[in-house]
Amino acid sequence: MEIDEPFVTEWGNVLFPPFHTSCRCAVEYEEIENAVSRTEFADNTQQQRDFEEEGEKFREIQDKLSDIAGKVGNDLKSFASGEKLTSYDELPENITKPFEEGLKNADTNVKTLLEKEMKKVSYAIDKERIAYNRKWDYIKIKEDVSPSAMAHELFHRIDYKYGIIEKYDFKKTLQKDFDDILKKCVRDGSVEGYLLRKYSYMFEKRTKKGWEVFEKYRGISDMFSGLTIDKLNLGYGHKREYWLKDKMKLSKEAWSQYGSIFYRNDGEVTKVFKELFPSFYESAIMVTKELI
Ligand SMILES: [Zn+2]
Repeated sequence: MEIDEPFVTEWGNVLFPPFHTSCRCAVEYEEIENAVSRTEFADNTQQQRDFEEEGEKFREIQDKLSDIAGKVGNDLKSFASGEKLTSYDELPENITKPFEEGLKNADTNVKTLLEKEMKKVSYAIDKERIAYNRKWDYIKIKEDVSPSAMAHELFHRIDYKYGIIEKYDFKKTLQKDFDDILKKCVRDGSVEGYLLRKYSYMFEKRTKKGWEVFEKYRGISDMFSGLTIDKLNLGYGHKREYWLKDKMKLSKEAWSQYGSIFYRNDGEVTKVFKELFPSFYESAIMVTKELI
């Protein structure tokens, strides 16, 4: 926080940090350049956005169509949706090979879940975006889709199909984890300052807009964007308007980020994820195990 900014408490604004029972926290002044939050959004994460036009009334039709096996189902849906839909097996090898290669290294539970679900959804090759379309139950992918982006969209589909976010309140565990982070970052002056100190290796460079994490930490950056309505943006994240649109967005994106992070299963990233979001991680694993 800024040096002259008051602390907001339930009793009003105060000039010194509120005291907690048995807490000896203090505030230390530290120069942190660019600690001011960023609101701008990197264009390349647009691909991770969902379609918004879906309607509940289509769920019934979609379920029926999903039951119709293989190509017949896709032909019907192609006709209805106006897209050329294909099955997983009909996708070009330059998409399926790297994805399957990546599965070999994925976290066991995430791997099992993805293998169970990846052939149950239709796909469409699109020039512009990567997104899950709930209305017609298909994943739009670009020719050069990254395997982890595909895993991310599959997790959105799994959420929709099994009503994960409706059933489990990830928001509570995410908020708990974030509250714990806030407690730890008092002496750093900001969450960004804390992350820069404790996880300096996460950060690639500082731009005019602030610190930016390496590409593989984008999922974590997006979760901070969601937790703070994009006040804290570490280089990648959905826009403020996106988070404000629907209060479930944070849980939905966190679930899919968990899916893509543990699909990629990079030890450095999963370590940071588990340390920063231990409660959410536990609940996401529990749900994954229930689904497999
Ligand atoms: Zn997403």
